[in-house]
Amino acid sequence: MKYTSTRDHEHSVSFEHALFRGLAPDQGLYVPEYFPKVAKNLKQDLEKLSLTDLGLAIMQNFVTDIPTEHLAGIIQRTLTFPIPLVHLHHNLYLLEVFHGPTLAFKDVGARFMANALTYFAAHSNKKITIIVATSGDTGSAIAHAFHQAPNINVYILYPSKKITLLQEKQITTFGDNIHALEVDGTFDDCQRLVKSALTDQRVRDKTILTTSNSINISRLLPQMIYHTWGLAQLKQQGIAATPSLIVPSGNLGNLTSAVYAKRVGFAIKQFVAATNANAILPDFLETHEFHPKPSIATFANAMDVGNPSNFERLMDSYAHDQQRIAQEIIGTPISNDEILAEIKYSYENYNFILDPHTAVGVAAARKYQIHHDNPLIITATAHPAKFPEVIKLAINIDIELPDSLQRILNLPNRSLKISNDYAQLHQLLIS
Ligand SMILES: *Cc1c(COP(=O)(O)O)cnc(C)c1O
Repeated sequence: MKYTSTRDHEHSVSFEHALFRGLAPDQGLYVPEYFPKVAKNLKQDLEKLSLTDLGLAIMQNFVTDIPTEHLAGIIQRTLTFPIPLVHLHHNLYLLEVFHGPTLAFKDVGARFMANALTYFAAHSNKKITIIVATSGDTGSAIAHAFHQAPNINVYILYPSKKITLLQEKQITTFGDNIHALEVDGTFDDCQRLVKSALTDQRVRDKTILTTSNSINISRLLPQMIYHTWGLAQLKQQGIAATPSLIVPSGNLGNLTSAVYAKRVGFAIKQFVAATNANAILPDFLETHEFHPKPSIATFANAMDVGNPSNFERLMDSYAHDQQRIAQEIIGTPISNDEILAEIKYSYENYNFILDPHTAVGVAAARKYQIHHDNPLIITATAHPAKFPEVIKLAINIDIELPDSLQRILNLPNRSLKISNDYAQLHQLLIS
């Protein structure tokens, strides 16, 4: 399997190359050259497979430059937590992808990427430096996934005082090979510093330098596994009807991986792109025009994206066929008020506390449900305890932190403060 750029289908590289490059040289995103169909008997026997066997069956068609036995190990080390399908009400189901170490679905992609990079590093004896900017959630998933990975150093840049205490603790308390850098500036400053580093030849001469932001194809592909695992569990629960997938969306990585699952042959009826007030994709589906905008702050802040980076990849997976996109994807924006109302409704009626991002999905599912009675699987993207302020506002409850989060709150912050001028970061990286 080769990977090509969304902007040049002639340019093709290996999975390893796409993993290390992140972005193609023409600034396009790497996409698989084609979608390898899964075997018929795999679809028929979906309910009989384990999570990791299903993961291997899907991923081995996409990652052909890692021998199967090693790929199986990578998947096993990635999916070390359950991803249950929970019945919410009537035809609504929640796929809880938030039982990983940082309590959000990004653990799946970050851990697969870390394990794949570790594999390539070990087999080539290369020293690798990863540098990434974060506005909160990505940093914690990356820090956890790469902690103590041999031969890999990680620099995580976050804007000083602009992330929550919990998010900061999830990035800064590791030490070892995880270097947390508190930047005196904004998230945009962090991104600019990362870009400067990635093009700094003196740094590149010293180490293999790469980044791990969410456009990396190695984070996207493994997300097919949980979407498919949702389908498998539905069959296990004796439900044969074809489901639609409701996907809380920001940068559209979660949605694109769901579309990929359909492309390789799994039965999915439609997709609902559930956004917050940053309704770039729903607006596009209505007007056929793509208008990125500055992002608006909402209660579902991990989805506050005004220029979704995976849009290009999503369009590519439909060969830019607008009619087909409109048949398969329904865009549903949900307001801040609707987020609070949904958290309250689900709590009062089903005794279920939804995180604000999952609440966007459930609220969108409800709108879609009016015309559809097939099963609806909503990706539950984060644990509600990560957003205590919003939960308090919605239902006036102080949600209890899980032990794993409570523990890190008491650990010391080991971050290093740096200025938003590149010179200091340069010194750090070459020293
Ligand atoms: C990142 C994130 C999203 C959005 O996912 P995309 O792949 O960027 O569309 C939704 N919910 C949570 C909790 C997230 O962290």
